[in-house]
Amino acid sequence: MKRKAFLIDTTRCTACRSCQVACKQWNKLAAEATVNHGSYENPPDLTPLLYNQIHFIEQEQGDDLRWLFINRRCMHCADAGCVKVCPSAGALYHTKEGLVAYNREKCIECHYCVSGCPFDVPRYDTKQKVTKCHACSNRVQNGLLPACAKACPTQSLKFGDRDQLIAEAKAAGKKLYGENDLGGLGVLYVLDDEPGTYRLPKNPAIPASIFFWKDVVKPLGILGFWGAVGVAALHYVTIGPKKLDDADDQPRKGGE
Ligand code: SF4
Ligand code: SF4
Ligand code: SF4
Repeated sequence: MKRKAFLIDTTRCTACRSCQVACKQWNKLAAEATVNHGSYENPPDLTPLLYNQIHFIEQEQGDDLRWLFINRRCMHCADAGCVKVCPSAGALYHTKEGLVAYNREKCIECHYCVSGCPFDVPRYDTKQKVTKCHACSNRVQNGLLPACAKACPTQSLKFGDRDQLIAEAKAAGKKLYGENDLGGLGVLYVLDDEPGTYRLPKNPAIPASIFFWKDVVKPLGILGFWGAVGVAALHYVTIGPKKLDDADDQPRKGGE
């Protein structure tokens, strides 16, 4: 199957936040009380109940105000740090469309995926289970657009075959963020300024500590576990089951 992706043209975004509302509706995410922090941006960040967020960049330019908007969400990385570091098989996984979904029943609440994500995306619900944009995998598998892409009135947020979206953007002379980063992101941006202006890393990378965890600590842990099982089995076969000493079999004073 061809890889799917989002193409988000920030120059077309009017910050109407239809995408935020559509996501909440489709995923049945409750509203949250927020506090005015001197900006129309609301809420100010992703939360366990907000899988995509319109981030406002407000710059004073003389008497004018320059407004830039960007839809923040999981980037559906091909080389996904969250999937790499997750110790519970199937809790975070790539769908056949190449997007990164999760199964909260398999999440063991370790929070390792937070440190594995270069974009500060995963959040935790009240039960400490991972939450994030899952690319509406249930809709996409039934031939529907993700709810946020369907709701966007300005075509800022498009979803489709990744190669085709890239070809169309390039034919229109647009420069893309995310085409080749981390194996190619599943969320591509057309930006109106440098990535740093939008709080996007210029060269996103999985933290080096993750490789230490995945390639050294995790295999050693598994080796240690199976080593202990092997020693116990060998002991049982060669010596037999452990017998209680006579002393062990006697009642002790003071409830010991
Ligand atoms: S953006 Fe973060 S949470 Fe999303 S796939 Fe990439 S590493 Fe995982
Ligand atoms: S793809 Fe679905 S889950 Fe992800 S932000 Fe859009 S509506 Fe929410
Ligand atoms: S629906 Fe489209 S135009 Fe409206 S805030 Fe979201 S991305 Fe921007």
